[in-house]
Amino acid sequence: MRGKPLIKYPVMKPSLLKLKKFLKLEAERGYDNRAVLGGLENMLDPWEAEARAEELPQDLVEAVVSRLRDYHRLTEPSREEALQGLWRRIQRSAGEIETQPLPAARHPEMREAQVTEEETRPVKAEVQPEPANPETESRAGHRRPSPASAAITSENAPAALNAPITVLSGVGPRHAQTLGRLGLSSLGDMLYLFPWRYDDYTQLKQINRLNYGEEVTVIASIQNVTSRKVRSGRMNLTEVLVSDGSGTLRVNWFNQPWIAKRLRNNMPVVLSGKIEQYLGRLVMNNPEMEPLDAQNLHTNRIVPVYPLTGNITQRWLRGMMHQVVSYWAPRIQDPLSEDLRQSANLIDLPSALLQAHFPDSWEKLKAARYRLAFDEILLLQLGMLQQRRAWQQRSARAFSPADEWVNSQIGRLPFALTGAQKRAFEDIRGDLTSGRPMNRLLQGDVGSGKTVVAALTIAIVAFEGAQAAIMAPTSILAEQHYNSLRRLLTGEGAVLSQDQVRLMIGATPEAEKQEIRAGLQDGSIKLIIGTHALIEDPVIFNDLQLVIVDEQHRFGVDQRAALRRKGENPHLLVMTATPIPRSLALTIYGDLDILVMDEMPPGRQPVATHVLSPIERERAYSLIRNQVAQGGQAFIIYPLVEENARELVKAPELTSEIAGKAAVEEHERLQKEVFPDLMLGLLHGRLRPDEKEEGMRKFRDGEYHILVATSVVEVGVDVPNATVMLVEGANRFGLAQLHQFRGRVGRGGEQAYCLLIPETENAMENERLAVMVETTDGFVLAEKDLEQRGPGEFLGAQQSGFGDLRLVTLTNVHLIEKARRFARSLFEEDPDLEKPEHQPLAAALERFWGEQLQNGSGDLS
Ligand code: ADP
Ligand code: MG
Repeated sequence: MRGKPLIKYPVMKPSLLKLKKFLKLEAERGYDNRAVLGGLENMLDPWEAEARAEELPQDLVEAVVSRLRDYHRLTEPSREEALQGLWRRIQRSAGEIETQPLPAARHPEMREAQVTEEETRPVKAEVQPEPANPETESRAGHRRPSPASAAITSENAPAALNAPITVLSGVGPRHAQTLGRLGLSSLGDMLYLFPWRYDDYTQLKQINRLNYGEEVTVIASIQNVTSRKVRSGRMNLTEVLVSDGSGTLRVNWFNQPWIAKRLRNNMPVVLSGKIEQYLGRLVMNNPEMEPLDAQNLHTNRIVPVYPLTGNITQRWLRGMMHQVVSYWAPRIQDPLSEDLRQSANLIDLPSALLQAHFPDSWEKLKAARYRLAFDEILLLQLGMLQQRRAWQQRSARAFSPADEWVNSQIGRLPFALTGAQKRAFEDIRGDLTSGRPMNRLLQGDVGSGKTVVAALTIAIVAFEGAQAAIMAPTSILAEQHYNSLRRLLTGEGAVLSQDQVRLMIGATPEAEKQEIRAGLQDGSIKLIIGTHALIEDPVIFNDLQLVIVDEQHRFGVDQRAALRRKGENPHLLVMTATPIPRSLALTIYGDLDILVMDEMPPGRQPVATHVLSPIERERAYSLIRNQVAQGGQAFIIYPLVEENARELVKAPELTSEIAGKAAVEEHERLQKEVFPDLMLGLLHGRLRPDEKEEGMRKFRDGEYHILVATSVVEVGVDVPNATVMLVEGANRFGLAQLHQFRGRVGRGGEQAYCLLIPETENAMENERLAVMVETTDGFVLAEKDLEQRGPGEFLGAQQSGFGDLRLVTLTNVHLIEKARRFARSLFEEDPDLEKPEHQPLAAALERFWGEQLQNGSGDLS
């Protein structure tokens, strides 16, 4: 920018500076609403608080808030208008005499690219050779099934659903490839690709009743169409006047010149979109439009919005979906019988599929999603029960050590076992004696002493000369286990010698790996500790009898199975620190026997937990400074902010994560402005795994005083020196997750602190967070979390290996309970689903589990 503005006041208030920075960034980005995490409106509340605290002029604050509140809904030209206005106003209020416009977008061509991405245009010449006009479009929407798909009759519908999507007319090999990125390869996949949100265009209004900000549908006729270049030829603007007798409305389309060619005067159309304002008059920008006589897919209804990829447009995909769903959904055989549906209060599957895609009402949509979510849990559960039974039917080596020997091993430990550890170990001993493979989940809070229980279990197996393997999710955790297990299992009176315990991780030199492989094969190594490398490596065990998997949630069912296959029906112990409410644990770990350790070793000082308001942040910083001065270390955690905060369904491929941005920026700020004299490390999700481990290692080894990290980063490593856990944006986290963070500090016996700072002063949020102050019981927190936020959080974090749960996240615990009960009684009645009436269900089960089920039980022979 040219010359410096004249500034009347000596210093501009920080909140104003910040705002200017945001606006400038946003302008430079071409108004794509990505300058601020989660969108401009996302910073409004904290900003307003700050601005009021700094006593910015009331009217200025209000202008900012009112113009930015709905910013995400505005089209880019309206956004620009809004921000330019604010920009002038800020400069005036700062006393700048000569106001200057906001800078232009840095990449004008990118900006245009974004505009065109949103528009409706035919996908490829091979599909719709010409820009479609409304008539051909509507025909496309109702296209009869192509000859290829019509040849498939309803009798062989299940098989037809496996037909490749290329049987659809208009889908060639290239489309198939693109659609493949959305996970679509068969017609069945399409039925199960659900919209990630819905636009409500059910509100039909007369033009003279329209209000600013509404999302509505208008039925009107075209009065006047003009199309011209604007912005020095960089943009095409199609201006249309429509009228419905009650009034006229201006409608604009940007960069969609073909629209003008479709429209004729007096043509009746249906328009759906948001009512905006331009120069004081109501307008609609880039609305969806369909001819009045068409059956509405894109307007005048609850309109599904699908995930997109490549150059596929919403309108095209929606048309395809309609074609598939309207033809195939009614032909699907419902795997649940009428009786079953009635007793569970479920709608039938064809209706559920139809309504989930093209809902007639929000109530019907809800019922549809409920039904589909029920199916997911039911199938998940049935598969688990089958797997578990298959496992239980095998025989395994029995280990029955004498009590005196066991007691001598317990006596070797540097401390007495807690009651919970004793009980857990007794159960495990029982499993080892049974002659059936143990299949345990050991759930115990961070610090509850699971490692010791694992060590005793290993000792039993090793005592009889057999081998054990432990798998950890990261090499740094594997190292940690290696060190503590070597301490616990070797030495005076111990069963193992140092060289019988080995570590194998990605970084292990190849020569050493070879030596380890040899030792495992000839049986001289008794305990191997490692990462995924253990599964992937062609290691052959001489006599693997015990497999332990730590931090379960990072491994899927299939990985569990892969490690198991390295031995002959070895005993399996899975350990997790995540407290999961029992109902959910039974669902997710239905194939395991659950064991809970609900007691901490004595003498632990509870972590002092405080909820601070954002303006008290300085207090947190000074606490960190004091702790560091006394030799402590601190974590500062930032939430991940996903762009599509309003999304309805989890669609990971859509939520391009602006992950780590907050952490990266804050790291810089903290290092420069707050802790210039300290060493600050940074960890975020975009780093390579080895970089993450390196950062964690440096923190553990004391090279950093403070570790700034996003929540994606695994901090499950013992850092005894760490005494402060500061969580920013604490309101974004579930209580269970906050509890996990808190568990990372206070492992060294010093008084430790957990400071939670929500983004805004919101009484309800703070009340929720206050529970963290009241209890340190992970299970209590998990139950509360479940009550407050539903099971999505848990499933989200836990579902690795359960990628097929698409809808459950939305629904409630009662649904899960209900589906689980159904699965159980079905299983008791007909475990292999052999009865004729269960055949459709058996087919659905196979479809749902596919490979995984085979992995788990396919090695029975
Ligand atoms: P986690 O369950 O999180 O894996 P660990 O097994 O790492 O917990 O144990 C945490 C700490 O508690 C370790 O330092 C361990 O030595 C110690 N510990 C475990 N059991 C006991 C006990 N019964 N009494 C005292 N300290 C214990
Ligand atoms: Mg542990």
